[in-house]
Amino acid sequence: MTTGPSWAVGTAGDVPAEDLRVLLADARSSARDAYRTTAGLIRLLEVIGQGGTADELAARALEAVSEVFSADLVLWVRTWGAEVDVVAACGFGDVDEPRLPRLPADADVFTSRVPRVWTRPPELAAPVVAGVAVGSVVHVPVDPADPHQGALVLLMATDATFDPTDLPMLRSVAQRLRSSMEDAERRGTVERLATAGPRLARHLESGPLFTEAVRTLGAVTGAAWTSVVTVDGDQALLGTTGPWPQEDVGRWPRPIAALRSWPAALRGEVHSTHDLATGPDAMPDDLRGDVRSLLCAPVHVDGRPVALLYAMHPRPAAFSSAALDAAALLAGYVAAALVNGRLYDALSASEAELRRQATHDSLTGLANRALVRRQLETELAADRPGPVGVLFCDLDEFKAVNDRLGHEAGDDLLCQVADRLRACLRPGDLLARLGGDEFVVVLPEVEGRPTVTGVGERVLAALHRPFDLGAETVRIGASIGGVLGARGTVSVTDLLRDADAAMYEAKRGGRGRVQVFDALAAQQSVARLSLRQEVQGALHREELAVHYQPIVDLPTGRVVGLEALLRWRHPVHGDVPPDVFVPLAEETGAIGAIGDWVVAQACHELAAWRRLPGCADLTVSVNLSAVQLDDGDLVARVLTVLAREQLHPRHLRLEVTENLEKTPGQLALLDTFGRAGISLVVDDFGVSYSNLAHLKDLPVDALKIDRSFVAGLGDDACERRQGIGVGIVRAVLALSEAAGLDVVAEGVETEAQRAVLLSLGCRSAQGYLFSRPVLAQEVTALLLAGSLLPA
Ligand code: C2E
Ligand code: CA
Ligand code: CA
Repeated sequence: MTTGPSWAVGTAGDVPAEDLRVLLADARSSARDAYRTTAGLIRLLEVIGQGGTADELAARALEAVSEVFSADLVLWVRTWGAEVDVVAACGFGDVDEPRLPRLPADADVFTSRVPRVWTRPPELAAPVVAGVAVGSVVHVPVDPADPHQGALVLLMATDATFDPTDLPMLRSVAQRLRSSMEDAERRGTVERLATAGPRLARHLESGPLFTEAVRTLGAVTGAAWTSVVTVDGDQALLGTTGPWPQEDVGRWPRPIAALRSWPAALRGEVHSTHDLATGPDAMPDDLRGDVRSLLCAPVHVDGRPVALLYAMHPRPAAFSSAALDAAALLAGYVAAALVNGRLYDALSASEAELRRQATHDSLTGLANRALVRRQLETELAADRPGPVGVLFCDLDEFKAVNDRLGHEAGDDLLCQVADRLRACLRPGDLLARLGGDEFVVVLPEVEGRPTVTGVGERVLAALHRPFDLGAETVRIGASIGGVLGARGTVSVTDLLRDADAAMYEAKRGGRGRVQVFDALAAQQSVARLSLRQEVQGALHREELAVHYQPIVDLPTGRVVGLEALLRWRHPVHGDVPPDVFVPLAEETGAIGAIGDWVVAQACHELAAWRRLPGCADLTVSVNLSAVQLDDGDLVARVLTVLAREQLHPRHLRLEVTENLEKTPGQLALLDTFGRAGISLVVDDFGVSYSNLAHLKDLPVDALKIDRSFVAGLGDDACERRQGIGVGIVRAVLALSEAAGLDVVAEGVETEAQRAVLLSLGCRSAQGYLFSRPVLAQEVTALLLAGSLLPA
């Protein structure tokens, strides 16, 4: 399986109409199901992929979750011991602090470490929450590897039920949400630090410097309290402090050992902890006060800690890695400011570092999400032909390895994966790590879907070889989703979202595979389903029209014939091109009646035009589908029309494509047409066989050189193309002259093309240079113009 959610419809073949209706109904309903899942997922990924602050992101995402899964209440909760902390909530109306269902904090619906669905959870004694009579509850951990991240909890009203098959999708959404939140936090932190950092430079005295540092630290870590403790020998002095959690700050100086975070500080490392009461970082009660979690960043000068920056929280929630990084940088700024004169250097050096950090993954050195977005944006805006490919790669057994062998082995594995992926790519491709075990590849130059699939398969093969992690050799797999984006039409957000959705499909389809999602194809297949049905009534609803394109004598520009070209004015989709709806009409059999109607229209109009001065020899060309040639009565019907309009059979030319199956029935029919005096034109000549031998059993009168060959003529900028075009046109002209056939060149758009065709001896042509296909009413003016050669 390689396609995403595009839904195959059984081919009509000889299926009777009743069965076809049943088939169509089935296909539509399964398409609707698949569409529901995919549309829901896509909606969620889209919301998660949008920018904004972490809070905005959480609010929007929860709203979308409630919409997609029809949940009445959605909560993102974290439990800390006996407390339940609501990170975000949706469905509680305007209530600022959502009142939680009155449940013990250790209730399963909050603390379950695995995704679960309950119908009427026993814990809900009085199952009414915020006015909703709760019937079922869904619990999905945000990050199964890290219980501190909490869980999404969905509550549904009594009569609504949750479809457990949606659980994997919800799980995947929760994890994505978490990594997007982290990104948003990091972005915000880096921005705040980038503006705040340079402000420190203004302070050359330690007092104001610490005040500024304390304020900045609060802003970048989101801490409730911050302070600076200066270190003097083995004494700690409470220097400057923001709001302090304790009333009593009179007991300073304290022995430095009481601060606990000392060993890490000594090494110059940022340290964070959220178990201050009992853990290895336990602090004396009086010092700890209401502080539950703490971050400490040492300020090192000349290899020695001179101060400690503290950020503190009343919640036992760990500080994010973004906060840790920001605190480390800030400590560096402060250290530099303390050493008079070195501040400026430190700022510019760390700003460069900051910029690198903001665009790169610190573990693997690969680009990060921000850089990928930026590069993709540039790629999509580039003025180049061809689509952009994106691959989304998610390792399948990474978590297991990480859990079993520890984080260090996990990191080692990720670095090795990064190396292998690098080796799979071409120089212009971009490789990034989005976080966790997710990698993205941007392919700026792809020919089409096979290229994307090919790279995906290469990546799979590269990851297939076992990895040596020192202690052990492990095997992991990957699920890869790919997409193609047309430049200038899709956004970065759409593209990443679709790649993500395709990856999800790949995983769902059974891991270790590549799933390339062709958004356009999927869209088309949905549209096709309805068009296919609608085309059958189009004729009766009078939505069809015939347009005519003049065929001219090349030397003089005089109109010698007209090609009838069908048009469908769809009430909703606007003009549907014949390349799209004719095949649908063929599949459904509607082409029979439609084709008859085109012949009747064209003949009727030709009869009128032929009465105009100088137009007695005018012909009309009508395109015939192969399907129409299976109808043995066609000749009789066409001859009846000709007789009614008092036309001679030679006034009608029928165009068929050269790749006919040529069944005995079809050959007999064409033969009858020939014997009746109706000319046969082989359309799109050269596209599939380019060999006259294939035509020998057809009673052919003329060939139409396909416009793809004409397009290359007169194009001096591309000699190769020009060469191919000239070669084919020359060959066709030579062959047809020998066989006594007429030749019409199609798609002439420029004077240069006309000149080359003339020089090669081609006599007639059609194309935009002379006229586009026009309405029947407009034909008269063209006929009376005398010549359609451009002035
Ligand atoms: P075709 O028979 O090869 O028709 C020529 C196509 O080239 C037309 O597209 C025409 O609009 C387009 N064309 C003409 N001059 C130029 C030019 O200078 N430059 C370019 N780029 N294009 C030019 P159209 O009308 O969209 O028709 C597409 C195809 O649909 C036709 O290809 C034909 O195969 C099919 N078709 C159209 N009408 C009928 C019909 O009544 N019955 C059947 N069975 N097929 C039809
Ligand atoms: Ca044609
Ligand atoms: Ca053609």
